[in-house]
Amino acid sequence: MSQQSPSASTPIILTGDRPTGPLHLGHYVGSLRNRVTYQDEYRQFVMLADAQALTDNMDDIGKVHRNVVEVALDYLAVGIDPAKTTILIQSQIPELTELTFYYLNLVTVARLERNPTVKQEIVLRGFERDIPAGFLTYPASQAADITAFKASVVPVGEDQIPMIEQCNEIVRKFNRIAGRDILVEAKAYVPEVGRLPGIDGKAKMSKSLGNTINLGASADEIRAAVKMVYTDPLHLKVSDPGHLEGNVAFLYLDAFDTDKAGLAEMKAHYTRGGLGDSVVKKRLEGILQDLLAPIRARREEFAKDRGQVMQILKEGTMKAREVAAVTTDEVRKALGLSYF
Ligand code: ATP
Ligand code: MG
Repeated sequence: MSQQSPSASTPIILTGDRPTGPLHLGHYVGSLRNRVTYQDEYRQFVMLADAQALTDNMDDIGKVHRNVVEVALDYLAVGIDPAKTTILIQSQIPELTELTFYYLNLVTVARLERNPTVKQEIVLRGFERDIPAGFLTYPASQAADITAFKASVVPVGEDQIPMIEQCNEIVRKFNRIAGRDILVEAKAYVPEVGRLPGIDGKAKMSKSLGNTINLGASADEIRAAVKMVYTDPLHLKVSDPGHLEGNVAFLYLDAFDTDKAGLAEMKAHYTRGGLGDSVVKKRLEGILQDLLAPIRARREEFAKDRGQVMQILKEGTMKAREVAAVTTDEVRKALGLSYF
């Protein structure tokens, strides 16, 4: 089903990323390739959450600024089409900040501190009581993002489910106060594929762990990364039986190899013994080179004209702002905040 101009009944989807670094294969598996499909089924908004990225990056504002265009290039490179998807920059829509300001009165500090994801992040980053207030309250800001566009579907990783629950609590409280259903509750879509591990064998490919293969990686970078991919430390000689558990080369093949029969055969050979890592990695490298070459080419093409990319972001942001402004107007009126 393909449609250029969605009808009023087309469900609305909101997704996005914090622009803190280039996107990698983990993002591709976890969200990007789905967005290319979603844009034909939903009215899709994809947000560059630069303001949210500042909640823990005030010491490096340049990083956030620079990565807005980098992440936009990644979006365009994978096939997110600005004619079908509205790509927007969060900070340029003041209505999102305004909604956050109201929603903060619909959530308690205790509730924010109980949010399991926020709680975990506080521990992870060693914030304790020195947590930036903006970071503690980012679930309210996320609720503003979701509700401003009346999104009913929000694709998220498992760790973000508590955000959607909190968003819906805010929606219900607000609608009760308003006396009618102005805001829309959202449903979390969790992709079936789990997390893509890092090339080092850590459970998650993540830019802060430095174990990524980026979407813009050169052919040489891909080759070098595949060489480093963690396999089976017990598989010393070619003749040794190999193990598949935790073997990142095979986990990547599971994620990207479309020849499932060929892959099953290779797995059997590997576990039986007699198949070297270099053969497995050669297959993996070929698949990743084939996957990333067209993405890299499109990325380089768009990168030639950054002015055009900024124009795409400007148009998307303006379009998104019109939608957010309508919702914010309704919210303001419902709260009795309209006078003239
Ligand atoms: P950071 O190191 O700054 O946390 P990151 O590389 O882990 O960055 P995030 O920006 O935290 O990336 O990820 C945003 C979203 O991208 C996640 O919520 C998840 O949906 C998806 N994602 C990121 N890494 C992976 C991965 N390895 N596998 C699957 N999905 C991923
Ligand atoms: Mg992360």
